[in-house]
Amino acid sequence: MSIQISNVTKTFGDFVALDDVSVTIPTGQLTALLGPSGGGKSTLLRIIAGLESADSGTVGIEGVDATKLPPRKRNVGFVFQHYAVFKHMTVAKNVAFGLEIRKKSKAEVAERVDELLKLVHLSQFAHRMPSQLSGGQRQRMALARALAVEPAVLLLDEPFGALDAKVRKELRDWLRRLHDEVPVTTVFVTHDQEEALEVADEIVVINDGRVEQIGSPEQLYDEPASDFVMGFLGEVTRLNGINIRPHDIEISAVPGLAGATPGYVLRVLRVGFEVRATVMTEDGDEVTVVLTRTHAQAIGLEEDVRVWLTPAVGAAVVPAMAAG
Ligand code: ATP
Repeated sequence: MSIQISNVTKTFGDFVALDDVSVTIPTGQLTALLGPSGGGKSTLLRIIAGLESADSGTVGIEGVDATKLPPRKRNVGFVFQHYAVFKHMTVAKNVAFGLEIRKKSKAEVAERVDELLKLVHLSQFAHRMPSQLSGGQRQRMALARALAVEPAVLLLDEPFGALDAKVRKELRDWLRRLHDEVPVTTVFVTHDQEEALEVADEIVVINDGRVEQIGSPEQLYDEPASDFVMGFLGEVTRLNGINIRPHDIEISAVPGLAGATPGYVLRVLRVGFEVRATVMTEDGDEVTVVLTRTHAQAIGLEEDVRVWLTPAVGAAVVPAMAAG
């Protein structure tokens, strides 16, 4: 196991930022720390990096107890949301920096920089200054720089957070491909569930200083351990006291299955190829159902028609905790 976090607690004054957190991050995987703002993700990442120390608990990296080691002795590379670049150095020099301070030979540095710039698709920009790069290119440079010293662990704190949606998406696909080429154990912080679901091998959901659930994107999406995880990873509606995803509800214009919940259609909204219907059940609940346009047409879905709702077979469901 590459990173072993055991019973880590961290407080800032009276505020408990991490409360007895234990997580094991396997070697070679791309792991996302996902959760709402203020939940403690960055604090955990900074504790792994050694930029912050835990009040109690331990951090093991590659089998070594790193709890008390300074950052430079942990063999980790990191990249933050705001590019920490040397503005007065060329792209190639920025990437070479870590190697030069480690006193590698000139030839060795040149070869490695070449290789890294190829990897992040920036070879043609080697002699530019960082100010002459786009935001996405600058983040790729930051990644090349972090990878230069061959860290055992790469830590990324919202690395694409400051970029626009389209560039974010491109970099996300690119990070996934890069990771498949160079499988260094990578941990990245994000509050964007789509980013985590798309890119990560494993997701650690953190909320209020605690780990809510750890699992593959599929496990979290299909078998959420709590109301919170279910709601954080996708849209949720409530049918007969259970939380369920709107596209996991079967809707029919005939009574059909025993136990189906009758109601009538309050509203129908067409969004691209999807149709979103709001159904008022006989118990007075408003339930959201998402179906395809073709299906909606086939059952003659429109306002005021009577319909019957059933959870689809295999749907992810969690009992609803509180009323409302
Ligand atoms: P975000 O996505 O907004 O960065 P996060 O999940 O990464 O959120 P953290 O940055 O880990 O959250 O912060 C967790 C909590 O600890 C927050 O409430 C924050 O205000 C608090 N906190 C973090 N660093 C400090 C500090 N140095 N001093 C005091 N409080 C801090």
